[in-house]
Amino acid sequence: MKKIVGTLDKSFYENIKILYPKNLQELKNILDVEKKIITIGSGLSFVPNFFSKESVSISLTNFKKFLKLDYENNIIHVEAGITVREVLNEISKENKYLKILPGWPEVTIGGCIANNIHGKNPYVDGIFQEIVEEIHLITPNSKEIIVANRKINSEIFYNTCGGYGLTGLIISAKLKINSIINTSFFQKKIFTNTQKESLDVLLKNKGSFCSYAWHDYSLGRKWGRGIVNLFYEKKNTKNTKNSKNLNKVETKFNLLKYTQPINFYNSLSIKFLNNLYIFFNSFSKEKNINLDELNFPMNSFPIYFWYLLNGRKGFIESQIIIPFSSFENFNSELKDLTSKENVSIYGNVMKVFNGEKKNLSFDGRGVCINYEFLNDHKNEKFFESYYNLVSNHNGITSLYKDSKISKEHINLQYNDKYIYFLNFLEKIDLNKKFNSIFSDKIKL
Ligand SMILES: Cc1cc2nc3c(=O)[nH]c(=O)nc-3n(C[C@H](O)[C@H](O)[C@H](O)COP(=O)(O)OP(=O)(O)OC[C@H]3O[C@@H](n4cnc5c(N)ncnc54)[C@H](O)[C@@H]3O)c2cc1C
Repeated sequence: MKKIVGTLDKSFYENIKILYPKNLQELKNILDVEKKIITIGSGLSFVPNFFSKESVSISLTNFKKFLKLDYENNIIHVEAGITVREVLNEISKENKYLKILPGWPEVTIGGCIANNIHGKNPYVDGIFQEIVEEIHLITPNSKEIIVANRKINSEIFYNTCGGYGLTGLIISAKLKINSIINTSFFQKKIFTNTQKESLDVLLKNKGSFCSYAWHDYSLGRKWGRGIVNLFYEKKNTKNTKNSKNLNKVETKFNLLKYTQPINFYNSLSIKFLNNLYIFFNSFSKEKNINLDELNFPMNSFPIYFWYLLNGRKGFIESQIIIPFSSFENFNSELKDLTSKENVSIYGNVMKVFNGEKKNLSFDGRGVCINYEFLNDHKNEKFFESYYNLVSNHNGITSLYKDSKISKEHINLQYNDKYIYFLNFLEKIDLNKKFNSIFSDKIKL
């Protein structure tokens, strides 16, 4: 499935059958009538696991209420169709925020839980389930809402975080919130010659507020040179209530509306753009940045042009975690492979993770990298070898960012967690009512 930075082509969305229940009773009626269903959040995932040809997608757009705002105990209870932007704009009035945020504010809380997303500093903060206290959901076998947390229905709780919508419809959730300490940050860029150098810088600075690296993967001598971005809170800018720094988050672009007429990218243009990117960055090795720009960089950058230039073919995205111990070997083998198959990598971001494998969630200990490959049928042979490389190095691939990975490689990479998840689905959804392209892919 091709992708364009965040979403699929506009035409894809025009062909999904979506129902929008107005309230719980309407939702229950739909569940009684429809044979196959799956929930859709904002539809912004890189892999459309919110869809299948046999299912109707149920949108909880009308489930957006704040059920409780308990600022004293730092817990909020929100309906699952609410977006991250809507949550932030409410709780920031009390100088609160969500510690784990995706890079785009329009995604829903239901989507964040179901994909168990990660934020800016997964090494320190972990993944989304860390801030989920409780989930209220309708499972395939239950007609009423049930409560799941770490004590009650814990198996349902842990499988719903990272359950890709297959364990039930999340109606609402209780989330932990944090106080905003600072809204002004200092960004430092460090230029590196290899990914290993970048990794050393990232690990040395893992305590910074946020850190990530970008690399030049255009084929040639300079393969792997990069820029590490480190963000530190600025001293003496303690945030006070009603501070002017607390802007309302406004989304500037509707990512679901784009078609891409021009095919601009190829190995030459990528090389040229990477040189340009390094050149411009060398002029601003340090700068001040506010919280919104840091959280949602693509909302400040004129991403519109990037989308148009992606062309009709778009990109294939893949995001992986490779254990620290295999990282150097993995890199040199990837370099050989890309040059042998003449494949250029365009977008990419590298972060570090310090978690552990949990069900089918994207978590672990190692280096996380997302790659954007040009979507070209000539690259098929490359992809076969690419997934072998990831699996051979005990890596895992993100199942909500990578649409190409096969069931065999999911089995190899997630292993016993994969079998356990399938067994759990058998128990919780006897009639296989929840159906998506993801459930079709993973079933044995
Ligand atoms: C520009 C951009 C930047 C991004 N940056 C990051 C990032 O930094 N880190 C990261 O981890 N991800 C990132 N993402 C990915 C995005 O955060 C996730 O894919 C997110 O889950 C999308 O949420 P959504 O509301 O669009 O859900 P959808 O894409 O609609 O659905 C995602 C999954 O959740 C399920 N689901 C949705 N709502 C419910 C519900 N109420 N109950 C049960 N299941 C449900 C669906 O069935 C589907 O399987 C980014 C995406 C974009 C477009």
